[in-house]
Amino acid sequence: RRARDLAAAGAPAETADGTRIKVFANLGAVAEVAGAVAAGAEGCGLLRTEFLFLKRATAPDEAEQRDIYRRIATALGDRPLIVRTLDIGGDKPVPYLPMPAEENPALGVRGVRLSLARPDLMRTQLRAILSAMPTAQCHIMLPMVVDLAELRAVRVLLDEARAALGIAAPVPLGVMIETPAAAMLADQLASEADFLSVGTNDLTQYALASDRGNAGVSAKLDALHPAVLRLIREVGRGAKAHGRWAGVCGGLASDPLAGPILIGLGMTELSATPAAIPALKAAIRGVAAADCVALADRACAAASADEVRAIASEVTS
Ligand code: PEP
Ligand code: MG
Repeated sequence: RRARDLAAAGAPAETADGTRIKVFANLGAVAEVAGAVAAGAEGCGLLRTEFLFLKRATAPDEAEQRDIYRRIATALGDRPLIVRTLDIGGDKPVPYLPMPAEENPALGVRGVRLSLARPDLMRTQLRAILSAMPTAQCHIMLPMVVDLAELRAVRVLLDEARAALGIAAPVPLGVMIETPAAAMLADQLASEADFLSVGTNDLTQYALASDRGNAGVSAKLDALHPAVLRLIREVGRGAKAHGRWAGVCGGLASDPLAGPILIGLGMTELSATPAAIPALKAAIRGVAAADCVALADRACAAASADEVRAIASEVTS
C-alpha cells in the first residue's frame, strides 16, 4: 500500500475528467527539498527566503544567497522553483534593517514595500536568484502586493538585473494575492504578472480583519470563509481573462477539504506542505473539475466557513 501510494505520489495529478493540476511544495530550508520530492512535489510553489535573513547580524551577501538558492534548485532537479522575495517587516526585527517601530506591523512596511524601500537589498536578492539556476527553472514571486505599480517597479529592477547578468530569456515574475486589494484587482495584475498565487494566510487575516497571530481571534480564522473564497474567485477569473495560471500557496492548499473548491475557483496549481501532498493528489484524482465548479458555487453562496466545511465534506467523504 505504502509503495503504491509513493508511486502514485510521483505521478502528475489530474481530475477524473482530465484537468491537470500542478502540485507543488512550500519550502523554507535546503533540508526540506528531498522529502518534498519524495512526497510527490512537482516543483516548489513557494520558497520562503526569510530563513536566510532572520537571526543574524548582517544581511546575507549575494554569494551566500546564490549558494543556498542553487542548492535548493539542484535538489529539485529540473522542477520549477518559485522564489518569493524577502517578506519581512516591522514584526521581525533584524539588526541590519533598522525599522521605525510600527503600531500595526501587518499594515506596515513589509513584503514588497520593504523591498522597494530598500532596493539595494532587492537588487542583491534578484541577482542571486537569477544566477543560481537556469532561467527555465526560475520563477520570482512578490509578497504583499496591492496593485500594479509595485509589480512595475520590481519589473524595472528585474530587467536591470537580467541585463547586467546578460540573461536574455524572460524570467516569469508573479505576484502573491494576499491582500483584498490584489484580489479585487486580479484582472489588472494578471495583465502584467506572469502568474498569480494566493497567500491564503494573509488574505484571510486581511479579509476577516483578524490578526493571524492573535490567539483571541485566530481560532475563528478559517480560509474557507465565503468572503475569502469570493476573493479567490476573482483571482481565478482575472487569471483566466489574461491566459495566466493562478494557484494557492497559503495554508488552504494543505487543507484536505479545500482542494476541490480551489479547483472549482479556477486554481490550477496548489502548493502545499510536503506532508499534505499525497492526500492532495488523491483528492484531485477523486473529483471531476465540472463538479468542482458546482461545489465552488455552493461554497461561495454559503454564509459561514462552517457551512462551507459541511458542504465540502459531503463531496470529500
Ligand atoms: C500566506 O500569507 O498565505 C503565505 C503563503 O505567506 P506567509 O504564510 O509566509 O505569510
Ligand atoms: Mg503571507
